[in-house]
Amino acid sequence: MNWIERYSASVSWKGFIPLGQEGYDENDPRHGINKSPYSVYGCRCPACRKVASDYSRDRKRRLNPPVYNTTKFAPLGSEDYNPEDTRHGTLRGYNRGRCRCKACKQANADRSLEYSHRKNPDSKFRVDPTNRF
Ligand SMILES: [Zn+2]
Ligand SMILES: [Zn+2]
Repeated sequence: MNWIERYSASVSWKGFIPLGQEGYDENDPRHGINKSPYSVYGCRCPACRKVASDYSRDRKRRLNPPVYNTTKFAPLGSEDYNPEDTRHGTLRGYNRGRCRCKACKQANADRSLEYSHRKNPDSKFRVDPTNRF
């Protein structure tokens, strides 16, 4: 537990007044300390909104981790196609990026091979791994 968590766990919300209500005090140190003012008290001051949006961004990131590279992904055949892009060779490159380069197709083939093995362990005897494409 860091000091903020300790503080916010012990913090008393007595007398807390959210933005827009009479008595709102923007200098109240409880604004933005955690998500409570936003979700429990409905405070929409900048500090509380920021905490809430950070939370939901974190949650989204956990559910759907971003690819490290933030430049636009260029699939095979597009003008900016860059084989060095680390997203090639991932399922994301194949599915989301709609890239059909060798690495991305390989990633997809690996995935479906793995999937069919899981469904039917005997299938590996029928798949020649050197001849996937
Ligand atoms: Zn607030
Ligand atoms: Zn690719």
